Amino acid sequence: MLTVGIDIGGTKIAGGVVDASGGLIDPLRVPTPRDPREIEDAVVAMITDLSQRHPSVGAVGIAAAGFIDRDRSVVTYAANIAWRDEPLRARIEPRVGLPVVIENDANAAGWAEYRFGAGSGTRNMIMLTIGTGIGGAVITEGALYRGGHGSAGELGHMRFQRDGLQCGCGQHGCIEQYASGRALQRIAGELADAGGIGSALAAARESEGTLDGRTISGLVSAGDSGAIEALRRISSALGEACGTFQAAFDPELFVIGGGVSQLGEILLAPMREAYATAVPAHGNRPGADFAIARLVNDAGVIGVGDLAREGRH
Ligand SMILES: [Zn+2]
Repeated sequence: MLTVGIDIGGTKIAGGVVDASGGLIDPLRVPTPRDPREIEDAVVAMITDLSQRHPSVGAVGIAAAGFIDRDRSVVTYAANIAWRDEPLRARIEPRVGLPVVIENDANAAGWAEYRFGAGSGTRNMIMLTIGTGIGGAVITEGALYRGGHGSAGELGHMRFQRDGLQCGCGQHGCIEQYASGRALQRIAGELADAGGIGSALAAARESEGTLDGRTISGLVSAGDSGAIEALRRISSALGEACGTFQAAFDPELFVIGGGVSQLGEILLAPMREAYATAVPAHGNRPGADFAIARLVNDAGVIGVGDLAREGRH
């Protein structure tokens, strides 16, 4: 059986047909409309198009950034879209005539890496997606851990610092304020302000008017010490947090995804070091490995397509 996977992001809606081996057929992309009703229409149009071209499609998975209820049908809260207790499954199912499940986007990406990517072969895995914020997914004993209300795995909102920086979730000191793409930009800006090793960052900000993730990554790849220091700081913070996640979940593997993950070992090395300082009884217990995600751009679509197939073989 084939399925359709749809990943609703802040700027684009990605979709495609997913086969039983995690293969992606006919990938599609459209810009995300602003109005929630237009988003729904765009999703329905994409599903209709794909299922007409592939009549053996038997189920649909839709991933969105937000809290999803335990029945995988209602978006309780979405960060970037004005959805509050939105019954997305009930709205879309009758329009497409196929069973629909809704999933958190980071959970979908983590599931794809577990099934077909960097995590294949493990049974217990944690995925952290470094984007504007930090998405988390927890796989325990070969299953996606959803928790009592469907909202488990929000690892980016673990409190990292008491009385720390304000977070978009309404709390303070969440790890995503110290280790996300947005944190990387903030720290790079602070280093640029300070001069010294931040002088190349300051020059790039001057010429481009801003310091975005791509510019910072470019400077890291070019060996600039200021950009490397900014990256080291977010990587260390995330590594420390992984020590705490190890204590709680004991995964075999941490998979790191998101655009910045493509920097590879220069991101992972400080993470491993900081992790070692934060794992209880480090050196006297088995630890976890770290790996870079493999399905970067398609993980959400593949993962949610595969989750739609779960139980429908
Ligand atoms: Zn938070």
